[in-house]
Amino acid sequence: MTQRRAITIARGDGIGPEIMDATLKILEHGGAMIEPEFIEIGEKVYLGGHSSGIPDEAWESLRRTKVFFKGPITTPQGGGYKSLNVTIRKTLGLFANVRPNVAYAPFVKTKHPDMDLVIIRENEEDLYAGIEHQQTPEVVQCLKLITRPGSEKIIRYAFEYARKNNRKKVTCFTKDNIMKLTDGLFHKVFKEVAIDYPEIETEHWIIDIGMAKIADTPQDFDVIVMPNLYGDIASDVAAQITGSVGLAGSANIGDQFAMFEAIHGSAPDIAGKGIANPSGLILGAVMMLVHIGQPEVATRIHNAWLKTLEDEIFTGDIAKGGPSVGTTEFAEAVLARL
Ligand code: NAD
Repeated sequence: MTQRRAITIARGDGIGPEIMDATLKILEHGGAMIEPEFIEIGEKVYLGGHSSGIPDEAWESLRRTKVFFKGPITTPQGGGYKSLNVTIRKTLGLFANVRPNVAYAPFVKTKHPDMDLVIIRENEEDLYAGIEHQQTPEVVQCLKLITRPGSEKIIRYAFEYARKNNRKKVTCFTKDNIMKLTDGLFHKVFKEVAIDYPEIETEHWIIDIGMAKIADTPQDFDVIVMPNLYGDIASDVAAQITGSVGLAGSANIGDQFAMFEAIHGSAPDIAGKGIANPSGLILGAVMMLVHIGQPEVATRIHNAWLKTLEDEIFTGDIAKGGPSVGTTEFAEAVLARL
C-alpha cells in the first residue's frame, strides 16, 4: 500500500480557504494518500506583525515535505510587503512554471474548441528579480535580469516536457527586437538548445504578435516557453480564452521542491460569497498527485471533474448568466462522480 505523503498546505487569502476546503474534500474522497501539514502565510501573518509574511515554522514544514499545495495569496499593489509568491518561488528554486490551457468544448463555451497548449514560464528572473530603485523623487527604475544558465534551464525544461508528453512543437516568445541583450539572449539560447531536439518543431514570435495569435488561433500552439513577466500575462489570457481564469492549474517545479496552485489570484471581489470556481486548484492538485507518484488517483479525480463539466454543472464564471452552482455544490458534484 502507498505510504501517505506529507504535503505542506496553505489555504491562502480571499477565495483561497473556500476553494482549498472544496479541493481537499475531493482529494480525501478520491483516495489521495497525503498527510496535510497546514501552514499560515500571507496577509493574516503579515498583519499579525511578521514582516515577511512567512513564519519560521512554515519554512521548516516546506523544507521537510518539499511539496507545497497553495491557495492564492493577496499581494499589496504599489507598495507594502514583497510578493510571497515570488519569495517562495525564488527561495525554493522553483524555476519552471507549467501552465496547461485546454478547451473543454463543447461543454465549456469557447471560440477555440481545439485549443490545447502549455505555457512554460521562467519563474525566477526577468523583471521579477525585484531589482527596483528610486533614482530621484520623479524617476524610478526596474532592472530586467536574464541569465544564460537561467534561460538554458527553462528552455531545456520546455523541450524535455515536450518530448516526455509527446508534444510536437515548442514556440518561444520574446521581445528581442527591442530588448536586444536580455530577450536577445533568451532567444539565442532557445535556438542553441533546439538543436538537441531535432524531432521537435520550433518557432519564435515577438510577444505582441504571439499574443495576438494566441487570441486568434490558439490551436496552432503546443508548448510555449517565455520569460517570467510575459508568461504571467500570457497564461491568464490563455486561460480566459478556454473559458475562465478559474479553469487553469499550475505546477512550479524546482530541482528539490515543487509547488502546485491555481493560476488565478485571491479574487477579493468574490471572496466569502461561496461562488468561486475551485477547478484551477483541483487541476493543480491533479498535477501534484502525478508529481508525488499517485497517477491513478490523479486520473480518477481528473475524470470525475471532466464528467462534472460534461454534465454541465458550472460555477458562475463558466455559466456566464446560465444556471450555476456554488463552490461547495460544484465540489459535491465532483465527489459524486468519483
Ligand atoms: P484574480 O485572479 O484574483 O481575479 C481576477 C478576476 O477573476 C476577478 O474578477 C475574480 O473574481 C475572477 N476570478 C479569479 N479566480 C476565480 C475563480 N476561481 N472563480 C471565479 N472567478 C475568479 O486577480 P486580481 O484581482 O488581479 O488579484 C487579486 C489578488 O491576488 C492580488 O493581491 C494579486 O497579487 C493576487 N494574486 C495571487 C496569485 C497567486 O497566489 N498565485 C496569482 C495572481 C494574483
